[in-house]
Amino acid sequence: MEKTLTAPAQSTAEEKRHAEDQVLRVLPQTSEHVKQLQQLCDTLLLDLWKPLLSEDIQAGEELHVRVPASSLQELKGSLNQHLISYEVLIRDVQEQLDSSMPRKGGSHWRVPEGYSYTVYHPIEEIYHWMYQIKESNSELVTQHYLGMTYENRPMYYLKISQPSNKAKKIIWMDCGIHAREWISPAFCQWFVKEILQNYKTDPKIKSFLQNLDVYILPVLNIDGYIYSWTTERLWRKSRSAHVNGTCFGTDLNRNFNCSWGSIGVSHNCSSLTFCGTGPESEPETKAVARFIEKRKSDVLCFLTIHSYGQYILTPYGYKTDLASNHQDLVEAAEKAAVALKEKHGTNFTVGPTSLVLYKNSGSSRDWAHMIGIPFSYTFELRDKGAYGFILPPDQIQPTCEETTIAVMTIIEYVNQKYFPNSAVAVTSGSLWLWLIVLFTQILS
Ligand code: ZN
Repeated sequence: MEKTLTAPAQSTAEEKRHAEDQVLRVLPQTSEHVKQLQQLCDTLLLDLWKPLLSEDIQAGEELHVRVPASSLQELKGSLNQHLISYEVLIRDVQEQLDSSMPRKGGSHWRVPEGYSYTVYHPIEEIYHWMYQIKESNSELVTQHYLGMTYENRPMYYLKISQPSNKAKKIIWMDCGIHAREWISPAFCQWFVKEILQNYKTDPKIKSFLQNLDVYILPVLNIDGYIYSWTTERLWRKSRSAHVNGTCFGTDLNRNFNCSWGSIGVSHNCSSLTFCGTGPESEPETKAVARFIEKRKSDVLCFLTIHSYGQYILTPYGYKTDLASNHQDLVEAAEKAAVALKEKHGTNFTVGPTSLVLYKNSGSSRDWAHMIGIPFSYTFELRDKGAYGFILPPDQIQPTCEETTIAVMTIIEYVNQKYFPNSAVAVTSGSLWLWLIVLFTQILS
């Protein structure tokens, strides 16, 4: 594919803004501990990784938090004083960030035989990749405009569709709604590559492509993704300005029109979980919602890919009620988790978001299910906190391999559920084959 791409103008965050920051794993054991920790997190304005809101801290549940070097002494002192146990998960955040950044001009930046799927790519390269993919696979892939970001960058999705005069249903998958979760866009790209490499030979892919088109949005939050490359690797939100430019960014996964603003969000624009000024206040959210709404009677499956925690999450996040098709949702996800584990032994937890992770309103998964899309899931990819949002590039391949299996399993489940005849056609085909073999055996 492309060999002569110049290194992007903005490629790495030059500032060492996380030098000697640490990520700690803390285990509060009493409600006193919880109170102490909430106070510490709120007064020191710490970047909570798990849970995301201090109000969700619970006794007996471990907490992951990034502590700036300047607050480390104070925090550790306080933890010791209150006999709260902790351990260091990441000893030097900056070192971890540096070692997971591709080096400019380095040999693994770009391999000569084509695009490398085992490094993280800046947005210019992802735009270029989309262009190349649709150019060199025009029999299967087209690129479509979805909308504009806050900073006026075009959002495109890829449509993977085998030409046919039959009306097909839709599988939607978006990646990169949270800027710092770089493994997510890496997965969307990997998944496209997998389909393209295998659709002519893999009977399962062949079968579902007869009934289903796959729509993939590789980076939903483009502005935030760029900001995480140029300025702040651990940026989460979009880049919209609020309160006269005094604070920036909306958590796009709190901005959908689904019990908006009610739980597990912040209305303070400097917070990590700021839900925006109203439902769909952000252009990125609106672009996705308008598109899905228009096609909602055709969309059977809505997948949104995040990191980290190793979960396949079902609706709902904003309430503990179960989805009307909860049994089916869990059955498909459990199958996916079992198949995923067979690849590299990775354990995923399946269940409703509000029960297995935390409560939050305004997520795209809940919204999609609420408007009638039956199979709606959030994937939280690797890991479980050892590296958290700074997953090293050497885990891109195993993570994408196992996740590909899980997503394929869910798509197959949906395909068989809605197109039992095509699934039966395959089975009865092989049944005939068996009968013929048996018959010839008997005759011989
Ligand atoms: Zn996320």
